Amino acid sequence: MSEITGGCLCGAVRYACAAPAVMTALCHCTHCQKQSGSAFSVNVGIPKGSLQFTAGKTTSYEDKGTSGLPVHRHFCAQCGSPIFSDVEATPQLDWLKAGTLDDTSWVKPSANIWCASAQGWVPYPEGAPQFPQNPPAG
Ligand SMILES: [Zn+2]
Ligand SMILES: [Zn+2]
Repeated sequence: MSEITGGCLCGAVRYACAAPAVMTALCHCTHCQKQSGSAFSVNVGIPKGSLQFTAGKTTSYEDKGTSGLPVHRHFCAQCGSPIFSDVEATPQLDWLKAGTLDDTSWVKPSANIWCASAQGWVPYPEGAPQFPQNPPAG
């Protein structure tokens, strides 16, 4: 896999990430459903701070996670595409929205989280464990 690149729908925000992705979590929480307007978010974990903007920058909305800590949800102010989440409860990782990647061919879900609020029709991919909420730490 080469460098991760991507951007928003209108092209105002472009990014690159030199670090390899750590994991991909499908998040079925109600906040991700609201923000994505979809059934779940496809969140690619990358080392915190490794994301660099090559064009424009995001605006963020400060959401609150179940941990009580802020979740900074970054999006393009022009077209509204969600780009990544800076989750204070995961100090090692930022969470890139897989739909914004230029190349999605390598994306493989490694876990399903917040399945307790998943939409009823959603099929789960093989080999990705399902957790009712956040996975147990460690
Ligand atoms: Zn945009
Ligand atoms: Zn979520």
